[in-house]
Amino acid sequence: MAVHTYSQVWDLDIFFEGGSNSREFTAHLEKTKAKIHGFQQSVESWLPGSSLEDAATLKQLIDRFEEAAKPLRQAGAFVSCLQAQNTQDKQASELKARVTELSARLQTVLLGFDQKLSTCTPDEWTAMMKDPFLKELKFILSERRERAADKLPAEEEALITSLSIDGYHGWGQMYDLLVGSVKIPYRENGEEKLLSVGQAANLFADSDRKTRKAVFTAWEKAWGENSDFFAKVLNHLAGFRLNIYNKRGWDDFLKEPLEMNRMKKETLDAMWSSISEQKETMIRFLNRKAKLLGLEALSWYDLDASLGQANTRMSYQQGADFIIENFSNFSEEMAGFARKAFEDRWIEAEDRQGKAPGGFHTYFPESSQSRIFMTYSGTASNVSTLAHELGHGFHTYAMRDLHLFNRSYAMNVAETASTFAETIVSDAAVKKAASREEKLGLLEDKIQRSVALMMNIQSRFLFETRFYEERKKGVVSVQRLNELMKEAQEEAYGGALKEYHPLFWASKLHFFITGVPFYNFPYTFGFLFSMGIYAKALEEGQGYEHRYMALLRDSASMTVEELAQKHLQTDLTKKDFWEQAVHLCVKDIEEFLALTE
Ligand SMILES: [Zn+2]
Repeated sequence: MAVHTYSQVWDLDIFFEGGSNSREFTAHLEKTKAKIHGFQQSVESWLPGSSLEDAATLKQLIDRFEEAAKPLRQAGAFVSCLQAQNTQDKQASELKARVTELSARLQTVLLGFDQKLSTCTPDEWTAMMKDPFLKELKFILSERRERAADKLPAEEEALITSLSIDGYHGWGQMYDLLVGSVKIPYRENGEEKLLSVGQAANLFADSDRKTRKAVFTAWEKAWGENSDFFAKVLNHLAGFRLNIYNKRGWDDFLKEPLEMNRMKKETLDAMWSSISEQKETMIRFLNRKAKLLGLEALSWYDLDASLGQANTRMSYQQGADFIIENFSNFSEEMAGFARKAFEDRWIEAEDRQGKAPGGFHTYFPESSQSRIFMTYSGTASNVSTLAHELGHGFHTYAMRDLHLFNRSYAMNVAETASTFAETIVSDAAVKKAASREEKLGLLEDKIQRSVALMMNIQSRFLFETRFYEERKKGVVSVQRLNELMKEAQEEAYGGALKEYHPLFWASKLHFFITGVPFYNFPYTFGFLFSMGIYAKALEEGQGYEHRYMALLRDSASMTVEELAQKHLQTDLTKKDFWEQAVHLCVKDIEEFLALTE
């Protein structure tokens, strides 16, 4: 048998030699800047409708865009890898600032491009879209054109964008600054410590309830003391957004988030009601967990508590082999992709100091290669993370020869391939568990995640919609925000908890993100959409590979309803699909309940 040892350190030199001091990379940035300028000039000189050669001109413009966007993404991927592998790399932060500036520049040119698209008459548009090359990009181009037409005139939108920097985005940055100053006092071994928000949050998974409760009490108090500031920021962010919607003549605040995710309101409603209808079993899980922890009912700070089951460990090599082996039960191409990633040093997994926390996947379009970042210490959740990020990689691999315009999937489908890959591996781990304890631990991990996606995220969505509704009428007070949050949690958790977390609206970054509105429901969508696909894959076995890859390829060039209709022959606005997906999670819970009877 061939002995293989995979490197745990990635190869970045293949892109640009010399890390953050790479001269090659500096030259690359200069080249990118020139390409963006080239695209800008072409956009500015285009007068749609002025000649019979419109289709040819538009094709040329799109080529120019790709010539600028590809090296820019290559640069962005490189810089994020540099920053993650060494958080102390100051040079990398400087490079990051340069890339951010170039991205902003390209975005501005794209806005101009979209405006030009929107000035084409319907006849001109129909004629252009007959061109075979443009036809391939019709969905994206029409989407850009319609969105531009739906907004205010170009100069007014440009004014909003520029005012947003110190207004809207400024408030978002103010939140980050305030959170940085929040300290949670905590007594450990008789010594008073001031924990950062991140350090305190980690203690909610502690196995000692006294610790969790003490941290939670201090946590609520600290957010409470600063709640006036956070309420101010939240009200301004929502107010800013609502004002813009108002000026554009949009009366529904869900319009933008739904459009960004290319989905219908009916689909969202069908998803939430399928979840609500199957809450009973989730509540039974929460009650069982309380019993196992020796409690009458769980409180907010018990939700992430570990039941203390035995944890098995896998070396990096074993983890890699386990992933490849289980991927191959579904798809040889997926297994081959993972093998290549391990062999060609696409993964940075070494457990060492100075690395950023968390994990991510990024793609280098000029090289058609992925890079995956994480820290591997041998836990089951590390193996899942690795599979998850490889799933993201496989998604980009499935789309590798598409035009850049047809590769930008929305947030709700972004997690499809990753969740799918992660589910394959975590299901296999549960099946192969050597003891009852191990099985329970792994099952609990899985359930914990699905319950969070269906209950916690639902509470965020309920809170945010109600908050926006009230914000339309005026500023919402701290007390009211607390009430809204608590009510949303009670509803989403089916009243199963003893104590809730009313100040969650202040402590959760996602409510303050300015890049994306309603940073919540796409998570649940992505998870359940992937579970629905997984259910189909289980039915069909190995032969599903090609259909799965075809779905991934189309995931950025149609609405989610069209995607599901074409590849799953299902109507997402109806509950059947969602019910089946939720049921897969419910089955895990039933197994857990039976094992802990
Ligand atoms: Zn992900």
